[in-house]
Amino acid sequence: MNRKEQFLKDAENKAFDLEHRRKLLHNIGQYDKKVVQGKSQFVDLNAAREQAKNIKWATMEKLDHYLLMFERNISARGGQVIWAEDGEEAVQAVLDICKKKNLKTAVKSKSMVTEEIHLNDHLEKNDISVLETDLGEYIVQLEGSRPYHIVTPVMQKSKEDVADLFHKKFDTAKDSTPEFLTKLVRKQLRSEYPKADLGITGGNFLVADTGSVVVVTNEGNARLSTAFPKVHIAIVGIEKIIPSINDLELFLPLLSTYGTGQRVTVYNSIFNGPKQKGETDGPEEMYVILLDNGRTNILAQKDKRESLYCIRCGSCLNACPIYKNVGGHTYETVYSGPIGSVISPQLNDLQEHRHLSESSSLCGNCTASCPLKINIHEMLLYNRRDASSQESSFSENLTWKVWRTGMLNRSLMNMGGGLKNMGFKNIFEKSWGKRRAMPEFPKKTFNQLWKKLER
Ligand code: SF4
Repeated sequence: MNRKEQFLKDAENKAFDLEHRRKLLHNIGQYDKKVVQGKSQFVDLNAAREQAKNIKWATMEKLDHYLLMFERNISARGGQVIWAEDGEEAVQAVLDICKKKNLKTAVKSKSMVTEEIHLNDHLEKNDISVLETDLGEYIVQLEGSRPYHIVTPVMQKSKEDVADLFHKKFDTAKDSTPEFLTKLVRKQLRSEYPKADLGITGGNFLVADTGSVVVVTNEGNARLSTAFPKVHIAIVGIEKIIPSINDLELFLPLLSTYGTGQRVTVYNSIFNGPKQKGETDGPEEMYVILLDNGRTNILAQKDKRESLYCIRCGSCLNACPIYKNVGGHTYETVYSGPIGSVISPQLNDLQEHRHLSESSSLCGNCTASCPLKINIHEMLLYNRRDASSQESSFSENLTWKVWRTGMLNRSLMNMGGGLKNMGFKNIFEKSWGKRRAMPEFPKKTFNQLWKKLER
């Protein structure tokens, strides 16, 4: 089964799983309510969104300049920057550091980019244990699963599902409360932080003028993951750069508002390098791996460059009727939902992932819900255009040929509705899908109606 067939099969299953839909809509609904509250903190939300978009536009147009500025500034404080062209290079860099410093245990703060490069699998294959410290990611790791959502890794689970998982793994009571389970995990993690050799984080922002990596969490796990271990490795996509530390006053509230409805995330950590002379906390060494992995392919395409402005708030997923029906795992990609459907075909193989861009109602809810006003639904169309111009199927070509011939020929246009209905049914019935009613051509053509009107 190829990716598209698998997607269609899984989508069909999920779309008719009413329990899945109930839980997902309930959880998204909770977020939606809070987002309304979060937005009220902005005096002029539209101006804030426009400003953020302009900053990202200016940054992406001079990406090389800002990345080099970042490198200079963090290097001046002892941070070491590693440029990784793809996932393989990034993973190898991490493994090399572990080998050189004899690092055997890692604690990790939530990071989608490490999911993108399948870091945990590679570490474990090399006998380096890795423990997820974000509660949602911890649950995902416990289950041996994958994140369901960019921001909320277990968006599809109810509190009963989580209690059931803990019961199976740790023999806790089946009706354990979220508070009880959170305390349990907290206790376990607290004992692991001081033992870990390595702390791994992603980065929500890279700040060029101060050479900083900014990580936001609601659990304080990023700062605990980096305070104790002797080495900190931050792996960050190159598009996360913003020019100045002053820009954080705009980007941090936007991210938290659109992500979780908070005015600001609880813990905002700004890492400027390893422990400095006289400082008591922090790693002896800090590495920042700047990951390309297909991002410069997007940069090279002017009409899709905007997708690099994404701050991974997850708002477009919550707004998307497709995501809400088929769920996160159906996409079979690290980045799901509308923005995932734009960037996954770009970061991976366009033809293999084109069905993601095709699976959209193009309602535009994603674009409307994006804090950066990224034209997501338009870029889905650009992906479709590019995929079709590279490669199109026999049936697609035939479809357009029939359509073109019909539209250019008055006598074909004037053919009786019955004949057209039969032809349409024969050609399109399969691709139209069994869940949609076939369109019916009217008995009288426009031409006939017009002539009657003229008379
Ligand atoms: S595309 Fe926009 S709404 Fe979607 S995750 Fe990125 S910033 Fe958020």
